[in-house]
Amino acid sequence: MKLGEMNWPDIRDLDKERLVAVYPIASFEQHGLHLPLLTDTIQLDAMVESMDGKIGDRIVCLPTQWLGYSFHHMRFGGSLTARSQTHIRMLVETVDGLIGAGFDKVLVINGHGGNSADLRVALQELKETHAETSVYGASWWGVAAPALDSIREAGPNGSGHAGETETSMMLTLRPDLVQTDRLHPDGGRPPSVYAGRVEHFCRIDEHSSRGNFGDPTVATADKGQRMLDATVNCLVEIVDDILGERL
Ligand SMILES: [Zn+2]
Repeated sequence: MKLGEMNWPDIRDLDKERLVAVYPIASFEQHGLHLPLLTDTIQLDAMVESMDGKIGDRIVCLPTQWLGYSFHHMRFGGSLTARSQTHIRMLVETVDGLIGAGFDKVLVINGHGGNSADLRVALQELKETHAETSVYGASWWGVAAPALDSIREAGPNGSGHAGETETSMMLTLRPDLVQTDRLHPDGGRPPSVYAGRVEHFCRIDEHSSRGNFGDPTVATADKGQRMLDATVNCLVEIVDDILGERL
């Protein structure tokens, strides 16, 4: 079900015990030379649409929030960002509204790496103000990581930002928006054993001249479809684990 297509008496009368409210959050930022600014939003729209087709009786979905936290992309023109404080307020106050309408199980699905830190803070704040409510956050590439790893061919560093994964998904969803004559690997660094264990917030342009990380040259629409299917399957399982009180 889509919350925005319902009216308030219908929403009031829903059996909310059996429902998870789904709030997709994405972004509006550059994706290298070859993918559009709205990439994260297009991907998340498609995932949530597919979830709604499979388990529309168990979820109530919001439209995808397209403005996210993208400060690190701003030197590539056209990118838009909310400041962290604004972004956290948007997340908290949107979920506040859902809880106020009676939804006590909320799943925020994140489609943009830059949103992750704000989402963690928002979840903390929501627990402080709604102690009895369960609000979950799930970044799609994280929850589907084992499945995505098995499909990817460019290795762990091939995915990144606008790399193999995102380019494959966009070749599936909106091939008309993929500039296939401009695919270049970028953003690679010599490996450190501490990569992933040291916190470092950097601007994208410090490591990538084109704005992408990873290798989009090995992307295909076929892999994109398999990646989307695998990701949606994980998200559906998460909804069922929330409803089954396993999460
Ligand atoms: Zn992206």
